[in-house]
Amino acid sequence: MARWILRDVVFPRALLAAPQRFGGQAAGPIWRGDLLVTPEGVAGVAPGGAPDLPGVAGAGRLLLPALTEPHVHLDKAFTAHRLPPAGGDLLAAIAAEEADKAHWTDADLRARGARALAEMRAAGVAHARTHVDWGEGADPTATPRAWSVLRELGQEHAPGIRLQRACLPAIDLLADPAAAARIAAEVARDGGVLGAWVLGHDRRAEGIAAAFALADRHGLALDFHVDEGLGEGLDGLALILAEARRTRFEGPVLCGHAISLARLAGAELAAMLGAMAEAGVALCALPATNLFLQARGAGTPGARGVTRLTEATAAGVVTCLGADNVQDAFYPLGRHDPLLTLGLAVPALHLDPPLEAHLARVTTDAARALGVRPGMIDTLPPERLLLCEAQDLAAALSAPAPRRPLSALGPPPGRAATT
Ligand SMILES: [Zn+2]
Repeated sequence: MARWILRDVVFPRALLAAPQRFGGQAAGPIWRGDLLVTPEGVAGVAPGGAPDLPGVAGAGRLLLPALTEPHVHLDKAFTAHRLPPAGGDLLAAIAAEEADKAHWTDADLRARGARALAEMRAAGVAHARTHVDWGEGADPTATPRAWSVLRELGQEHAPGIRLQRACLPAIDLLADPAAAARIAAEVARDGGVLGAWVLGHDRRAEGIAAAFALADRHGLALDFHVDEGLGEGLDGLALILAEARRTRFEGPVLCGHAISLARLAGAELAAMLGAMAEAGVALCALPATNLFLQARGAGTPGARGVTRLTEATAAGVVTCLGADNVQDAFYPLGRHDPLLTLGLAVPALHLDPPLEAHLARVTTDAARALGVRPGMIDTLPPERLLLCEAQDLAAALSAPAPRRPLSALGPPPGRAATT
């Protein structure tokens, strides 16, 4: 069998399926070694005797599984440049983005979506989930044009990315049985995820119950934007957990934001997180948008507005990180790059070193949250392995490091037998 040596690579041992068999030397919290590359993937630390992998110069690279982006909005991305420069809170951002929808032609959606997918491809993303606003116009149940455009884009422009689409109506719309049935049927017919946003809506309990019932009927995954606010009385997450427990829904269920958890502490927080873990409900933190929109006042914010990711992980909840909004009314900056999101989360959520401990939130655990089987470094094929030109993870998170799939190096493994 063809095999090559990839010299002086660092890799997170936590993302190996069989670390004892893989080998390598500890280099601080990360491991280092010359890796044996075969057409099937990375076999482990090389015993020697194979030639260098062609097309690779210099030493010091980071090997990772391909990344997962669990939460973006490709219908909204890259609209900031044409919006009035107003800023404001979440409701102001929703209003500004609503006004922009007059520009959302097929061509506009395709151009912006293609740009976002190109960013994800360059970042090394293999799996992604985008939300799609749903519920506009005279017939709020009608399928929005972004839903179809993004399906086509996912097929045409992102051969290496498996793009999931989740509908995003207000939860009140799902409380209407006829509307909910129609939306869920369309989502199921078109291979989507049943999503909704929940923020103190009047009919949230009925809508959440309908979402679980329809997801069960159609075999759909669920995804909620829930409790994206620091005010008192937000109970969306509690209602979702109660419904998950009552129905014994087998998932996957992913809750994004849930920053109401920041208001909880002690036994109350432990009970909520314990219920999440027991119900198998995953949690996605979205620091960029929350830092920008929450705790708004006249000047500098006095609170962060992010969810309790560390406590959730400790309680056994599957946790992940998403980019959320990129250059739109909700956040004027950003890039569809999970390593950039993880780098921002380090100060925003106090993710302490060793940094390798947090990689699962943009790789394996992010995949689990989407209902995708997670791949490990020693189980993935070369096209699903990512080689970053960075000497360690801190370097990769501090600046955008060039990266490419392992399969892009040298002659295609399997064709040029060298040993
Ligand atoms: Zn979002």
